[in-house]
Amino acid sequence: MNAWDILSASMVCQKIREYGIDQYLGLDQSCPILLDSGGYLYLKRNDIEADPCKVLKLYEELNPTIGAVLDYPLDPFLAEQANEKRWQKTLANTRFMFEKNGYLTLMPIIHAHSAAQAQRACADVREIVGEPSVVGIGSLVPLMRTHHDGRLLVRESQTSQHHQSSRHVALEVIKAVRVEFPKSFLHVFGVGGTTTMHLMFALGVDSLDSIGWRLKAGYGAVQLPGLGDRFTGIRCRKNRTLLMDDEVAKAALLECQCPVCLEHDSLEGRLTALDRSFDNRALHNAWVFVQEANACQEAIRTDSIESFVVQRLRHSPLRSLLSVVFD
Ligand SMILES: [Zn+2]
Repeated sequence: MNAWDILSASMVCQKIREYGIDQYLGLDQSCPILLDSGGYLYLKRNDIEADPCKVLKLYEELNPTIGAVLDYPLDPFLAEQANEKRWQKTLANTRFMFEKNGYLTLMPIIHAHSAAQAQRACADVREIVGEPSVVGIGSLVPLMRTHHDGRLLVRESQTSQHHQSSRHVALEVIKAVRVEFPKSFLHVFGVGGTTTMHLMFALGVDSLDSIGWRLKAGYGAVQLPGLGDRFTGIRCRKNRTLLMDDEVAKAALLECQCPVCLEHDSLEGRLTALDRSFDNRALHNAWVFVQEANACQEAIRTDSIESFVVQRLRHSPLRSLLSVVFD
């Protein structure tokens, strides 16, 4: 959850204050909670003022395991000076919130669109907070979007004549932060869906968040381990693969143990259930997302992350990025 969602909805705010955030979310008390500021939402909505003091006060009241610094994500389509201004505001909030903080675990957030920028940002943060126990990386969402791939080029790679896809740049940023802060718990914000999380975990990211499973469900897409989006039927547009036309995907769907699929033994039953309801697709996709994250963690524990990721991405266009991760 994020502070913006809570502060901008008085009913939610009241309920969370009354019951506590874990009860409101239906989580047991041992479940760690990372509360984001929702800085990107403040940027979208010019009418609501972002106030680090208010955000910190809310964190103190709700007592999450980790509270993220109120930050201002970069926009790759903005002028360099405008992005620099955003970064300086994020740094000012970092300084302010760490100075005023009592006992909370605060997460500083690195924003960068090149490896060199990431190194500089880490140095800026280190100057304020020292070696952080937890650190986040933001501003990667636009770089991971497929339709920017190959077109959106970050300035420094342009000047060096070394053209990289924006996804490549995103992975280089994560790598740079991991090197700068090797011991910190590392979270990446908003990236790492069911088909991209493997790359993130292989780079040493400890946690990630994504609403891809929910957005995809809205577009009629069903997600399956190691496969891209497959569509159930009525909502399928041109150039999209129908689930029922793909033998590998059908076999994978028959293996699914999610609460929706378990109710239907036959492939037809599962396809109909997923086709018919957004809730069913969202539940199935969320289940696959969590299963994949657990499988990645298990592969890390057993020291087999490289072979696991290579196997999972063998049918995916993302396999071209494997050389960035395992060089
Ligand atoms: Zn399922």
